[in-house]
Amino acid sequence: MTFQDELEKLRRDIHREPEIGLDLPRTQEKVLAALDGLPLEVTTGERLTSVTAVLRGGKSGGKPGPSVLLRADMDALPIQERVPVDYRSTVDGAMHACGHDLHTAMLVGAARLLSERRDQLAGDVVFMFQPGEEGHEGAKLMIDEGVLDASGSRVVAAYGMHVFSAIVPSGWFVTKGGPILAAADTFNVTVKGRGGHGSTPHRALDPVQVGCEIVSQLQTYTTRAFDVFDPVVITVGQFHAGTADNIIPDEAFFQATLRAFSPETRARLKEGVVRLATGIAEAHGLRAECSFGIGYPVTVNDAGEAAFAGEVAAEVVGADRYLTMPRPATGSEDFSFVLDEVPGAFLVLGAHAKGADPATCPTNHSPETEFDDSVMADGSHVLAALAERRLLNV
Ligand SMILES: [Zn+2]
Repeated sequence: MTFQDELEKLRRDIHREPEIGLDLPRTQEKVLAALDGLPLEVTTGERLTSVTAVLRGGKSGGKPGPSVLLRADMDALPIQERVPVDYRSTVDGAMHACGHDLHTAMLVGAARLLSERRDQLAGDVVFMFQPGEEGHEGAKLMIDEGVLDASGSRVVAAYGMHVFSAIVPSGWFVTKGGPILAAADTFNVTVKGRGGHGSTPHRALDPVQVGCEIVSQLQTYTTRAFDVFDPVVITVGQFHAGTADNIIPDEAFFQATLRAFSPETRARLKEGVVRLATGIAEAHGLRAECSFGIGYPVTVNDAGEAAFAGEVAAEVVGADRYLTMPRPATGSEDFSFVLDEVPGAFLVLGAHAKGADPATCPTNHSPETEFDDSVMADGSHVLAALAERRLLNV
């Protein structure tokens, strides 16, 4: 079996049995089995089914050397797969629609490549296999459990890679310095009024009317308070209130996602929406209770690390398959928690289905998402080269 065949087999095994969230016991088993026999120090997570593996480089003489971290996320999504491939999901309502199965296999591949070249490694490599990227802060939990210091000292740099099933041509690597993905925060608002009869609104405090005013003013706020070149996006995705046409309810609830592309704007946005909601409610004699759900920071690539990662990708696969991204993408990532702690870079690898048009084919998170897993050997080689070469420049 070739290296690529082995990666494909592992990826497809994981694809058939997707698991969601922080608890991925079957996926963890597959990763542990795939790493078995390699000269790694392997530990598993306490609050999540993570796998951390440390490879000691031969050139550090057995002592902990400087270290570099490579990361893959492993979780799937609550989606019913509609792709007619023979390795499609066998789990009802779960699908690897974001390509984390490819990430996992590529990182196993990088661990194999670097284990073979261990003697030449000028330091240690930490392999971070992470559950719960899709809204569960898995990266943050692994940081809390010590992944950044797993080698005995803080990693000097960290790299992550994500496949796209559309937009980027298959086999191409792209990245950029600075913000590469948006911050995303969930904003919850409960407008508390006083219920009453629909015929006598003056005897009640109507939370529906005030909730609607807040929703529409949020859009005015985004266009008047923020630079269009450091944009924000607010989408109110749900709004619930009331039980009948002639009853004024006690309260109204809505939930929005806030997106921003710089940490400063994210902070100002979170402060501003609370001020706006509570201020509007108070102006009408009601109260707005505001809270935030789990939020992911802006994913910010270190400028030097992103340039280095781009050079390495171009050297490994050829300059004709590397491109510097002109602007960030609007998705978000919990690898941002890692990049908040240590310098590093996040790269995107194009992996759309063979014969598909990247401009129109289904994106990640679609039930029809299909990835070309023949890009995986290149992905593993780039990850391995990033660690190997970065350790030479510590
Ligand atoms: Zn993803």
